[in-house]
Amino acid sequence: MDVIVVGLGAMGSATVHRLARRGVEVLGIDRHSPPHSFGSSHGETRITRRLTLEGTEYVPLAVRSHEWWRRIEAETGASVLTECGVLSLSDLAVDPGAFAVHERAAAAFGIDYELLDAAALRDRFPQFRVEASRVGLLEPGGGFVRPEAAISAQLDLAERYGARLRRGERVLGVEATASAVTVRTDAATYTADQVVLCAGGWLAGLLDDPGLAPLFGVYRQVLHWFELEGSGRDFAPERLPTYIWEGVSRPEEYFYGFPSIDGATLKVATGQLDHRTPGPDQLDRTVAPEEAAAFHRSMIDGRLPQMSARAARSEVCMYTVTPDEAFVIDRLPGSERVLIASPCSGHGFKHSAAIGEALAESVTDGTSTIDLTPFALSRFAR
Ligand SMILES: Cc1cc2nc3c(=O)[nH]c(=O)nc-3n(C[C@H](O)[C@H](O)[C@H](O)COP(=O)(O)OP(=O)(O)OC[C@H]3O[C@@H](n4cnc5c(N)ncnc54)[C@H](O)[C@@H]3O)c2cc1C
Repeated sequence: MDVIVVGLGAMGSATVHRLARRGVEVLGIDRHSPPHSFGSSHGETRITRRLTLEGTEYVPLAVRSHEWWRRIEAETGASVLTECGVLSLSDLAVDPGAFAVHERAAAAFGIDYELLDAAALRDRFPQFRVEASRVGLLEPGGGFVRPEAAISAQLDLAERYGARLRRGERVLGVEATASAVTVRTDAATYTADQVVLCAGGWLAGLLDDPGLAPLFGVYRQVLHWFELEGSGRDFAPERLPTYIWEGVSRPEEYFYGFPSIDGATLKVATGQLDHRTPGPDQLDRTVAPEEAAAFHRSMIDGRLPQMSARAARSEVCMYTVTPDEAFVIDRLPGSERVLIASPCSGHGFKHSAAIGEALAESVTDGTSTIDLTPFALSRFAR
C-alpha cells in the first residue's frame, strides 16, 4: 500500500480522490460512513467565497476549490456549488477595517465585489431590515457548497479511480518507523509508505504527542433552521445571497445564514469559541428548544422579519480550533511519513477540494503547487 488516509470527511474525501487520480494505491478508512452528522461536515450548506476574511494566504485554496467543485459536478452530476453571492454586513463607522482583508484580497487576486450602502441594501435585499449605518460587501462569485454532496461525489470518484474505502472501521493507533507506517484499526492492521491524518475533531486522540494534542481544541456549534413566513421565492438562492451579519458594536450578535434550500426554512448559525469541550465523544449533541428560541431572540428578531421564531430543527456540529485559529497542514515532527490536516476553525470546507489536491501533491512530489507553509506546525514553537 502506498498511502492510507484516515478520516473521509471534507479533507479525507478530497485527499483520497486526488491521490487515486494520480494513480496512487490508496486506502481510505473512516470510523463512520461519510457523509455523516457526527463530525464537522454536515448541515446542508457551507459558506464559500474567494475573498476570505481569514487572510490572503487562503485565497488560492478557495479559488482552486471552486474550479474543482465545478469539475466534480461535471464528472458526477452532483450539485455542489451555488454561486448566489456572499454578502458581508457591517458598519464602517464602528469598524472601519471591517472589509480591509476582503479589499486586499480583491486587489491582489482580481476578484469582483460591490459595496452597498443602507439604501442600496434595502433596495436590493428587502429581506433584511438594516440600520441606516449598515453597509454591505457583496462578492457575486461566492455562495455556498453542499458538504454532504461534495463528500459523496469525491468518495465515488475516488473509488472510480481505484481507491479502496473502509467505512465503519475505527483507527486505534498509527505508528511510524523509518521504513513504513502501521495503522491499527478495530478490524485489521495495515502498512503503508505514508499516512495522511484527516480525522477532524478526533485528530488529537490519534497524536501520540502530549505537546501537540492540546493544540486542537473542539468547540460545540449549533445550526438552526427556522420556518419562513410568506413566499419562499424571496429567499431562494436567485434572490438572496449567503450572508454574514456582523454584530459590530455587539460582536456577540454575529451570525450568518443561507438562502432557503427547501423554500420553507432558513438555516442560520453563529460561531462560538468560549466553551471548549473535552473531545468529540463528549460533545452534547442535544439542542433544547430554549436554545433555538434564545438564538432567534438575540440574533434574528427585528433583522429578518420573515424568519419566524418556529424552529423546524437544530443540529450540533463541531469546530476544531488551533490557538491562532489558522489551519495546520504539515508533516508530523519526527515522523516524516505522517501528514496531518486540521483545516477547520469554522472556515475549512470552502478550501477542502484544494487541500486534498495539495496533500496528494505533498505525498507524491514532496511539495505542493499552493503554498502550505503558512499552515506549518513550527509556528507554535516560536
Ligand atoms: C457548524 C459549522 C459550520 C461551518 N461553516 C463553515 C462555512 O460556512 N464555510 C467553511 O468553509 N467551513 C465551515 N466550517 C468548517 C468546515 O465544515 C470544516 O473545516 C470541515 O468540515 C472539516 O473537515 P474535516 O475533514 O477536517 O473533518 P470531518 O469532516 O469531521 O472528517 C473527519 C473524519 O474523520 C473520521 N475519523 C475520526 N477519527 C477516526 C478514527 N479514529 N478512525 C477512522 N476515522 C476517523 C470521522 O468519522 C470523520 O468522518 C463549519 C464547521 C462547522 C462545524
